[in-house]
Amino acid sequence: MFLPGTRIEIINPELQAAPAAGPRAVLFDFDGTLSLVREGWPEVMIPMMVKHLEATPTTETRADLANQVEEFVMRLNGKQTIYQMIQLADEIRHRGGTPRDPLDYKREYHDLLWQRIESRVADLEENRVDQDLLTVPGSRELLAALAALGCDLYLASGTDLAFVQNELNALGLAKFFGPRVAGALDDYKNFSKKMVIERLVRENHLGPGGLLGFGDGYVEIEEVKHAGGIAVGVASDEKHRTGINEWKRSRLIRAGADVIIPDYRDSAPLLRLMGYRTS
Ligand SMILES: [Mg+2]
Repeated sequence: MFLPGTRIEIINPELQAAPAAGPRAVLFDFDGTLSLVREGWPEVMIPMMVKHLEATPTTETRADLANQVEEFVMRLNGKQTIYQMIQLADEIRHRGGTPRDPLDYKREYHDLLWQRIESRVADLEENRVDQDLLTVPGSRELLAALAALGCDLYLASGTDLAFVQNELNALGLAKFFGPRVAGALDDYKNFSKKMVIERLVRENHLGPGGLLGFGDGYVEIEEVKHAGGIAVGVASDEKHRTGINEWKRSRLIRAGADVIIPDYRDSAPLLRLMGYRTS
């Protein structure tokens, strides 16, 4: 059901027995949840992987390979990119090929993606494009409202930390997070969203309902729910910046999202639903 007059879809009916007070700690994923800078990344990653799999002795068709690649790429989305590349290496080995180091594939992917997004980042940095056109609609207003309510805002991304910081700056959103930004490291075992969330809950002594999380991927929704938090699934249509991406919506619901939204255009009723006292 939808919250009347909004596009906020309530999946977990218990949410309406409004929490006593809005959560103090709020965690955001970055790509697809706030930033649209990397919009179109699957159109880069999937063909690159299919090309590597076609070079193995397999007899599968390109269409078969593309379906299988899409399945694991999207299943692992939200974790660090390296996990998609580790899976690629396994798939190559499984088909009788000899894979390179997964980190090599990650660099190759990033070089290809960068060709696609370099001009977007440059346009942002040189003020040739409105920053808000490369964010999920309403992001800035929502972050400002949460900051004004006294919440601590955290960001955790599966994209490499250096890129996240750069793109966060380019979008003019860095000030909302200060030092509370986590991203992937080459030493990938020392970062995961699960680790970030567990530390956040421990250090802030957060009880059930003390954490609010926003994400467009399976991983962050699942981890926020494990931690006893409230999870908002952002089923953003990154290309059109309006409406729901149905594929994301169904996966986010399966991951345990309490609420589904297309973007943050209805942020005032959303904040009231989360228990914040807004004027
Ligand atoms: Mg994302």
